[in-house]
Amino acid sequence: MDLASYADLAIELVNTHEPGRRDTLRDLDDLRALLAHRPHLGGRVGHRDLDTVRQLREQLRAVFVAAGAGDEEEAVERLNALLIQHPIHPQLARHDARDWHLHLNEGGSVPDRYAARAAMGLAVKVDEHGIDRLGVCRAEGCQRVFFDGTAGRSRRYCSDRCAAEDGLAVPGPRRARGTNGHAVGDGRPRGKTATRDSGQ
Ligand SMILES: [Zn+2]
Repeated sequence: MDLASYADLAIELVNTHEPGRRDTLRDLDDLRALLAHRPHLGGRVGHRDLDTVRQLREQLRAVFVAAGAGDEEEAVERLNALLIQHPIHPQLARHDARDWHLHLNEGGSVPDRYAARAAMGLAVKVDEHGIDRLGVCRAEGCQRVFFDGTAGRSRRYCSDRCAAEDGLAVPGPRRARGTNGHAVGDGRPRGKTATRDSGQ
């Protein structure tokens, strides 16, 4: 099991909400849609679960905001609090012709299982790559969060689109430039510089 991959759960959840702009997790259908492609997180959900997941979303965003602002202590403190609040319960299981492998938190509510995976995934990412890898998009008006998988820790934007839009809107000092003189995109490695962390 690749625990670090669960960091995607955190990023995906946080990015359902850009404060003051859009919110795509407002009702139970939205929550079911978020969980639809995560069969191991499936289960009955109610309004209380929705509230809990929305609250988790804000707690996770606060980790990215603190990290993005360079406040490592604050970011780690918040992430540690989530790890305590949502401990993982690993169990070995064997099924569908697969050999023994780890499962996480089979029991508990959907929000609990989501939170335990998201917090653990982020923690493993931080352990492997550093807390400064978590960030918030610098583009005007965009508040999406990301994991910076670039070799040079140069990612500034959530997407190529934001990099392009920001480059057009704010020419000058704020526009980060790569060594080739082009605006730095979302930090996804290109060509030979690609790393296994690309795009997460
Ligand atoms: Zn963005």
